[in-house]
Amino acid sequence: MTIKIGISACLTGQQVRFDSGHKRSDFCMNELAKHVEYVPFCPEVAVGLPIPRPTIRQVRIGDVIKVCRPDGSNDVADDLYKFGQSVASNHLSKFSGFIFCAKSPSCGMERVKVYNETATWTTHDGVGVFAKAIMDADPLLPCEENGRLNDPHLRENFVMRIYVYSKWKELVSTGVSLHKMTTFHAQHKYLLMSHKYQAYKALGRMLGESHERDVDQVARDYIIGLMTAISKPASRKAQTNTLMHLQGYFKKHLSKIEKQELSEAIEEYRIGNVPLYVPLTLLSHHTKVHDVAYLKEQVYFAPYPNELKLRFGI
Ligand code: SF4
Repeated sequence: MTIKIGISACLTGQQVRFDSGHKRSDFCMNELAKHVEYVPFCPEVAVGLPIPRPTIRQVRIGDVIKVCRPDGSNDVADDLYKFGQSVASNHLSKFSGFIFCAKSPSCGMERVKVYNETATWTTHDGVGVFAKAIMDADPLLPCEENGRLNDPHLRENFVMRIYVYSKWKELVSTGVSLHKMTTFHAQHKYLLMSHKYQAYKALGRMLGESHERDVDQVARDYIIGLMTAISKPASRKAQTNTLMHLQGYFKKHLSKIEKQELSEAIEEYRIGNVPLYVPLTLLSHHTKVHDVAYLKEQVYFAPYPNELKLRFGI
């Protein structure tokens, strides 16, 4: 299934910015683009602003946010929000993520500059109006900004979430059932464990106790719990704990030297000397060699294409 992602058009290299420029993202266009299909949007152009155009900014007047020129004219906040709502209703069911351009009064996901009415002070607590409409429409949709994607932990977490969400949408598109959800949950055991062990247990319990419940409601509760649990990068401590759990599968399979090699790789990762892919490569190798069927199904070993090298930096 093709993974579709919404993206701020300027990040793809389209020259749609106020100064006729762009903000092409190397990671998005040179690496991730090989694995996903982007659907670009420039909300400011979509609501009728020209290229080039005078700059616009967010201005707070009481509880209301305007998105207007520095002299207060040409407020397009409502138009931007409505455009976001129309993108949401026409596209979000097919999207597994969205990448926004940081700091923009329209597209910024967080910490957007907001002026007071007299422009005598600013805060950095705004959300781009278009981005807000998208995030309001689907609070579970994995969203990230171009700048934050330079952080290897945030990048890995974002890409992992879009793959999980896409897999979930694929499951839902063929009709949910308790059996399918239980299988999905089992396949995501170690991925979930590497983020929140308690969430893995709680969601498993919830599925086990849901035979009398409406299956669509169970599915909603499940995906809320899952996406919330993986919404932040996994800590080194939780990853180490997960690796040690996986190590337990090989007690009877490995020689003394192999066990020692694996323990050392996990310890080296724990203390920050090697990245996650080092112990994981070993575990993955042993899983294949010893044909451990349950582990071969685990999404944790390959949540996204290895070619993205996302575990080299964490
Ligand atoms: S940040 Fe958004 S509104 Fe601004 S140029 Fe890029 S796509 Fe258009």
